[in-house]
Amino acid sequence: MEEWTNVSKKVKEYLAKSFDFTLPKIVWDGHSKDGTRKFLLAMKDEKTVECVVIDAPGRLTLCASSQVGCAIGCTFCHTGTMGLTRHLDSSEITGQYMAVSHWLHNNVSRDLRLTNLVYMGQGEPLHNFENVKIATHILMEPKGLGLGQRKITLSTSGMVPQIEKLADFPPVNIAISLHAAHDKVRTELMPINKVYDLRRLFAAISTIPLKSHRKITYEYILIKDLNDQMTDIEGLCELLKISESKINLIPFNEYPESAFKRPSDRTIKWFQDTLLQRGYVCTTRVTKGDDILAACGQLKSIKEKVNSWDQPSLEN
Ligand code: SAH
Ligand code: SF4
Repeated sequence: MEEWTNVSKKVKEYLAKSFDFTLPKIVWDGHSKDGTRKFLLAMKDEKTVECVVIDAPGRLTLCASSQVGCAIGCTFCHTGTMGLTRHLDSSEITGQYMAVSHWLHNNVSRDLRLTNLVYMGQGEPLHNFENVKIATHILMEPKGLGLGQRKITLSTSGMVPQIEKLADFPPVNIAISLHAAHDKVRTELMPINKVYDLRRLFAAISTIPLKSHRKITYEYILIKDLNDQMTDIEGLCELLKISESKINLIPFNEYPESAFKRPSDRTIKWFQDTLLQRGYVCTTRVTKGDDILAACGQLKSIKEKVNSWDQPSLEN
């Protein structure tokens, strides 16, 4: 504010008294060989969340967190083992975008601009509906952070009552963490499926207002011998309409405390090819920075991870 020359001293004093301009503090950053960057951000109460920046041709995507921890408790997810500590407020969500933008400007290049945001860090964004909604409005507001609605993706584990309220949410891209095509397997992976099973989930999805030609993305973690068989492909084909669905396969990101394994590259390719042959738009997420993209909560063991990163800096 000190640098503002077109605002009177009185107004500045009023603003300083009335608003909090502090941003989350970056307490750790890491850089993987493929260009992916990871950050640990501390909020005012010193609770930390993680953010990842993924570099791809023509876009620079921030993977932001919506909560400290997560209450949903998916059995494959490191964040799920932490439980929920608290929701992030809207300024802590937009603050991740701003803090990381400043960091990139100051440490990499002034020309770098985050172009996309995905709510795929820690937390279940629809469990924190109101704060994520306000933050998304600020992110999209031309006089705010100016991201287009197609540049933002909200990923949810399938909170049915909130999915039914999506008409009351900015029209961003929606990704559903499906991960299984059969209730038995989905319940094993995601306890939320006990309450909101596949039938209820798809009834809610059918209420999402979709602009023409827009598709919903279905995220599907591929886990060895658990959901990587022909019966799973057949189940997916029964559940998903080709014209309204995109499938994003995510090879399971292994971590020491988990008994789940990633299938072989051959199985992953076979799974994708079979869905493509059946007419689906289907991509496989390239695992970036080893444990980055799906690294939901994996900074918990930050000290062990430090060695696997290039030039990490521990600031605090
Ligand atoms: N809570 C929301 C968004 C955050 S999780 C949701 O579940 O959709 C973002 C994505 O990372 C989800 O699709 C989640 O299933 C995936 N993920 C979590 N742990 C993972 C792991 N170990 N390997 C691969 N993907 C993982
Ligand atoms: Fe929560 Fe998503 Fe992790 Fe499930 S996958 S525990 S919903 S963050």
